[in-house]
Amino acid sequence: MPERIEIEKKVLSENDRTAATIRANLKKRGIASINLVSSPGSGKTSLLERSLTTLNKELSIAVIAGDVQTDNDARRLEAAGGTIVRPIVTGGACHLDARMVAKSLESIDLDPVKLLVIENVGNLVCPSSYDLGEDMKVVLISTTEGDDKPLKYPAMFRKASVMVVNKIDLLGSSDFMLSRVKENALNINGALKIFELSCRSGEGLNTWYSWLRELAGTRPQTKSTKPILI
Ligand code: MG
Ligand code: ZN
Repeated sequence: MPERIEIEKKVLSENDRTAATIRANLKKRGIASINLVSSPGSGKTSLLERSLTTLNKELSIAVIAGDVQTDNDARRLEAAGGTIVRPIVTGGACHLDARMVAKSLESIDLDPVKLLVIENVGNLVCPSSYDLGEDMKVVLISTTEGDDKPLKYPAMFRKASVMVVNKIDLLGSSDFMLSRVKENALNINGALKIFELSCRSGEGLNTWYSWLRELAGTRPQTKSTKPILI
């Protein structure tokens, strides 16, 4: 049977269809996008605060910040220099889905935006199953967690393109070993790109910023005045 028919026969779930529409719209506009995932307390918001302070003027970063109950993180991100920050309070749901992201995007003027960051709800389990239309998932882990996290949550590390190890200023104060977390992660997904940094001391952040700049500049910017249609 021709492959095309097989593909046509494949039924996409509602979430995947919405995600595909988001992805196509972002691509058309030349906007790079990441879906930032981690356990609670690994430092997603801290990494975004640093990134916004340094890069927002350059990249006009749109941030969609998911949280279960409060919009505290969104307010922190605005205080750090974020100019396009949209909270999504899920009211109990432990992940974001594509419909929530599509709705949030409708409220954003995307014309100046070069980079979209979706801060997912702190959870390494179900966010791995929800495509939000992003270019890639970035999984964050901190040195205050177990270095066996990739082994415990393999689906997330398999689906991620990038792993950021945060809080490297605290290395040595626990049993966490950098070499072991990298080995564990690469055993699950040998293609993972890895960053090691500390949002507190600033170590390693310049390499992260360079990568974000490169990511945001990888596609030609095409302007459109049409609203995103989902
Ligand atoms: Mg947060
Ligand atoms: Zn969930």
